[in-house]
Amino acid sequence: MDKIELHAHFSGCIRFTTLQELTIKQFGQNQEIQFQKCTTLEQCFILFAKINSLNLKLEDVRRMADEIFQDFYSDGVTYLEIRATPKKGQDFDQLQYLNAISEAINKAKLEIKLIVAIDRAKGVDEAQKTLNLVKKNKIQHLVGVDLCGHPGIGHFLEYKPILQKFRDLGYKITVHTGELKQQIEENNHVIEFQPDRIGHLIYFTEEQLQKIKSLNIPIEVCFSSNLFTTNMQPDCHPVKEFISQGIPIAICTDDTLCFNTTVTKEIELIKTTFGYSDEFISNILKQGLNYKFKIE
Ligand SMILES: [Zn+2]
Repeated sequence: MDKIELHAHFSGCIRFTTLQELTIKQFGQNQEIQFQKCTTLEQCFILFAKINSLNLKLEDVRRMADEIFQDFYSDGVTYLEIRATPKKGQDFDQLQYLNAISEAINKAKLEIKLIVAIDRAKGVDEAQKTLNLVKKNKIQHLVGVDLCGHPGIGHFLEYKPILQKFRDLGYKITVHTGELKQQIEENNHVIEFQPDRIGHLIYFTEEQLQKIKSLNIPIEVCFSSNLFTTNMQPDCHPVKEFISQGIPIAICTDDTLCFNTTVTKEIELIKTTFGYSDEFISNILKQGLNYKFKIE
């Protein structure tokens, strides 16, 4: 089977043991994470809070990157697109952070591309800074930009001009949308913009789905993530509809740490939930190879 990963957030894929170790090192033994793996949404939030509270050193970022890439490789993934929001730490700025990830990519045993992420919770000014960073510097392996972050904060239209500028520079665009019911209106603007891929899309109208189909926009399906963050029953997940309607999809993890998953687990889950045969799922995975971000 062709295992590729097109939607994985760097911070959400840190090894649990590494996060635990860094947490204890920085905040003391009494601040250790009280569970061994993440199994509830509440625990996901605890992990995100821990990740965001760490004041990292460049050596931590390098280590995280090496481990993340090793873990995807061990899972049998042959091609990975990793997305990262530029961060600052104790001894590094946003550019050094991205460069540390790029350097780890050079050493990895699988093919990896980088997507720079814009966190809508951080506002438009920060997004503009990210654009400036990319414009001024040659960031190795960078192929695209992602609009992500809390779907209840901000609106796609605020970020559209910045995404357009990334597009003008030749970068591919992916947008998280349809994660909340209230984003159904926003979906229209996202689809009209015609991103190269769409992330999640749990909530949508039939008309929107038909438009996506006619535009042939692939959807990055994050099955476990969606089940974790909604109360959806597995067999109610729209991936079945995407597949039956012939809409292009890629099976992704979103955050291996937070949803305690791997690409292999996600493939198996979708396969068993909907009773797809090996051959059927294998064909879907093969099609996913066409949705990689390639810069001409
Ligand atoms: Zn995501």
